[in-house]
Amino acid sequence: MSNVAELFGSKVFNLATMKARLPKETYKSLLKTINDGTPLDPDIADVVANAMKDWAIENGCTHYTHWFQPMTGVTAEKHDAFIQPTDDGNVILEFSGKNLVMGEPDASSFPSGGLRATFEARGYTAWDPTSFAFIKDNSLCIPTSFLSYTGEVLDKKTPLLRSMEAISKEAKRVLKFFGKEPSKVVSYVGPEQEYFLISKELRAKRKDLVLTGRTLFGAMPAKGQELDDHYFGQIKEKISGFMKEVDEELWKLGVFNKTKHNEVAPAQHEVAPIYSTTNIATDHNQLTMEILKKVAGHHGLSCLLNEKPFEGINGSGKHNNWSIGTNDGENLLSPGKHPSENTQFLVFLAAVIKAVDEYAEILRLSVATAGNDHRLGANEAPPAVVSIYLGDQLTEVIESLKAGHDSSEKKGGVLETGVDSLPILYKDTTDRNRTSPFAFTGNRFEFRMPGSSQSIAGINIVINTIVAESLSQIADELEKADDPMTAAKEIAIDIFKKHDRIIFNGNGYSDEWIEEAARRGLPNLKTTVDALPYFKSEKSLKLFEKHGVFTRVETETRTDIMLEDYSKALHIEMLTMLQMAKQEILPACVKYTNSIVKGIKDKESIGISAPNEKAKAQMLTSYTEDLIAKIDNLEKISNNVPESEDVLEVATYYKDEVIAAMTELRAAADLLETVVAKEYWPFPTYTDLLYSI
Ligand code: ADP
Ligand code: MG
Repeated sequence: MSNVAELFGSKVFNLATMKARLPKETYKSLLKTINDGTPLDPDIADVVANAMKDWAIENGCTHYTHWFQPMTGVTAEKHDAFIQPTDDGNVILEFSGKNLVMGEPDASSFPSGGLRATFEARGYTAWDPTSFAFIKDNSLCIPTSFLSYTGEVLDKKTPLLRSMEAISKEAKRVLKFFGKEPSKVVSYVGPEQEYFLISKELRAKRKDLVLTGRTLFGAMPAKGQELDDHYFGQIKEKISGFMKEVDEELWKLGVFNKTKHNEVAPAQHEVAPIYSTTNIATDHNQLTMEILKKVAGHHGLSCLLNEKPFEGINGSGKHNNWSIGTNDGENLLSPGKHPSENTQFLVFLAAVIKAVDEYAEILRLSVATAGNDHRLGANEAPPAVVSIYLGDQLTEVIESLKAGHDSSEKKGGVLETGVDSLPILYKDTTDRNRTSPFAFTGNRFEFRMPGSSQSIAGINIVINTIVAESLSQIADELEKADDPMTAAKEIAIDIFKKHDRIIFNGNGYSDEWIEEAARRGLPNLKTTVDALPYFKSEKSLKLFEKHGVFTRVETETRTDIMLEDYSKALHIEMLTMLQMAKQEILPACVKYTNSIVKGIKDKESIGISAPNEKAKAQMLTSYTEDLIAKIDNLEKISNNVPESEDVLEVATYYKDEVIAAMTELRAAADLLETVVAKEYWPFPTYTDLLYSI
């Protein structure tokens, strides 16, 4: 690998490149747009475009593309060559300001939830100067927003940018009372990405992995994750080679890749960048997922990003570490040395607590997908109940404030190793709690519910907007108060009192907590179908409308798109399961049983009796009969999917009927896997998939 500092950002039109290549005035004007959010000066677009084109061509580009994030959850790109014909039959390479600022892709084939009829196909992409252009596969990629002809948002970036503006605006209103007037308040995210790596060759042999990204069949292997020997374990050479190439590719793209390690489950790993603004972190996380998949192929591997590739084994999440700060570097969630006296911190902490309690349903639905439903509440994943972990120190501070006296403020203290030659270790003031869905971790909140394959845009749109709403209400009160400083502390304490039901420092994975949460009246929305309708509730419509993040129509159509996605995902899984069961599993079981039966007959013909073999053949036959019954049942269920315009009705059918029938079919097949000879089993087993590298 060449010098990392040289490599880093070499494929990005970043500030250093801009500064070197743009006229001073142009650079200054663009920098103002990037840093302070001032509108882009249209006069500079041509100059910037030309500099970008020259740089891109010098770096081997032939094409450019507006790179956008439609509602599919993955990115979209349509490449145009820089060529322009000349009169003499040759070409010149051109890229105008207009090409940079605006694109016009056909929008008809992207999900819009009926927002736009197919004949009204026009869509526009608009340059987002706050996220740098980059080079991928000889194309200059320009991060853009995606809107319809009538101005409705068709993507995930635009509302994210709107939510960032909303939280900035409301946070600034509050900060004014603390004598601070930053030009912008920014929300930051560091997303930890979990994934599985398996053999590419073995994956190709399983239709479920190829078509749905997760296994629909598979008995538990003899060794699961019970030994905890994979977590932070030594990284195998092949995996390490893969990780090095991922680092290199992402560093070139300016992604701040920092941490890599093995995760708890066999074949599971994690990669995490250094945090950046929610907008850039979202773009970078999309690139990370793309690069993980691409690079895996170079090493004979396949990267699984699905939330639950293997039943009975940990799923993959994407921990969303979120904070807010001023653009001059102050973290507004940093408690400082004396949190109980740090009113500004207490107010911002209170704003988050209030937001999470009041909008728990919406936070829950931001992580609702068919894949994540299998993960939440199972094998070391947070439950579907949203709660906040604050840790001992902050909880003590809050309890003292609520009771009206000063707290003792627990100190971190020194850790005794008992070995003189080891350095003195100063402890953090709080331990970690890995079972909480929304944990305070020192100067940020770690939201652990998001699924590994999700775009983090939707999640952060929700966090930004609900916290903006709390801050807005707090600012309203402060603006009315005679003595805002005293009022600020009172407001915070009042919020701690009102919303203490959302605080839970215990074991979030335990059954007792689920019961306790119900007693506290916290919502427990177990599935996507239970959660999504809240997006369309009056409370939600009002929230997003007030902060200019989504219009009512946009919220409603988005709900329908997500419900449709859920039904589509399950539809594909159902058909895949039926195919595998009918065309692969059943024939294998019959063939194996027949081979035993034939053996028994041959033996009997020469007078050998084999009563135990007979019993085994009988058992196999009855298991196979059961398999056939379960196939027929799923087939029947698949023929009865309601043909309704009502997306909720259809999704509910998939949730209640289809999943139940799929679960029964899986159980029948998995039981057979344990008794059918390996050489007859038609595809790689969990042991093959999880332990072959
Ligand atoms: P963990 O020990 O929780 O697994 P990691 O080091 O894997 O921690 O990831 C922590 C993530 O939190 C990193 O992406 C890191 O950059 C991010 N992070 C750190 N400080 C902040 C902050 N103030 N705001 C947002 N994210 C942060
Ligand atoms: Mg981590």
